[in-house]
Amino acid sequence: MLKRNRIEEKESEYHFPILIAEDNPVTRKLIGKILMNAGHEVVLAENGIDALTLFNEKFYPMVVTDWIMPEMNGLELCKAIRSRINQSYVFIVLLTAKDSKYDIITGLEAGADDYLTKPFNKAELLARLKTGIRILELEASLRKVNEEITILSRTDPLTGCYNRCYLNERLPIEIKRAERYRRPLSMILCDIDHFKKVNDKYGHQTGDLILKEFVRCIKRSIRNPLDALVRYGGEEFLLILPETNLSDAIRVAKRICGTISKHAIKVQQNEIYITASFGVTSFENDSHRNDFSADNLIRQADRFLYQAKEEGRNRVKFG
Ligand code: GH3
Ligand code: MG
Ligand code: MG
Ligand code: MG
Repeated sequence: MLKRNRIEEKESEYHFPILIAEDNPVTRKLIGKILMNAGHEVVLAENGIDALTLFNEKFYPMVVTDWIMPEMNGLELCKAIRSRINQSYVFIVLLTAKDSKYDIITGLEAGADDYLTKPFNKAELLARLKTGIRILELEASLRKVNEEITILSRTDPLTGCYNRCYLNERLPIEIKRAERYRRPLSMILCDIDHFKKVNDKYGHQTGDLILKEFVRCIKRSIRNPLDALVRYGGEEFLLILPETNLSDAIRVAKRICGTISKHAIKVQQNEIYITASFGVTSFENDSHRNDFSADNLIRQADRFLYQAKEEGRNRVKFG
């Protein structure tokens, strides 16, 4: 005997209120009742303008609208909703007595996703809304995947810090903000001392674990959620410190430098100690300094880091 797979209809996890725009009170009440009986939450508006006001106060992913209404008609409402940028998709159903082919084409071209003529069939309306929910669910999952990809593309896979791609986006924005609002901005560039020797002695895998622990140690030392830690190179990290002046940034660097040097990193039976060198610089928004770019700021921090290495490592240099 043929065994059939049971196909269960998946309950939608997508719950949201549906915005209904309809000027006829009887029809408005009827649509509202049908949708509520089907388990939807509804919000009712008497015309396009009221619907748009409600929409601007709160986002509605699904809108059912009449065409002919006073103040603002359904086509104008469609166009207004479609003109927004950077928001999630809105599924719009035009529900109207206008039923010529020309009307349907005009309605769809104004931005409606679906078109239903009055008098409407209750089951058909609900079925079409179900189609809309499927599309909205698909759009929401694509949006989520895109957000995850964006996060991954800005993250260093080994340490979980930001990567240079993120730095290239963020630093120019921070510099512009500091310039515009005359706010301080500092940067710490640090590099693990003699890391090659660590790798040579304990192996590359242990080296990786040490890098991760180094990052955890730095993250524990930075408290401001605005601060960003970037893996700038192999064992080189860059801290962007918005709203931080040079003396505060030096304090942060010294704190990290001291913590790292005292921290025993336990790997298998070993307790490994490392040190790091730090170059600190700041953009104090001095009006005479107009050569500020991300590259200049990093170059300056690198100069002080080099000086810290030259003077014996495990120290902070700044300027
Ligand atoms: P200095 O104090 O002058 O910075 O000496 P150093 O040995 O740290 O510097 P050098 O630039 O000579 O060597 C950097 C080392 O960092 C070499 C490289 O193998 C190691 N390294 C870079 N990225 C990684 C990584 O992802 N994992 C591991 N385990 N090691 C890495
Ligand atoms: Mg009407
Ligand atoms: Mg090094
Ligand atoms: Mg290095």
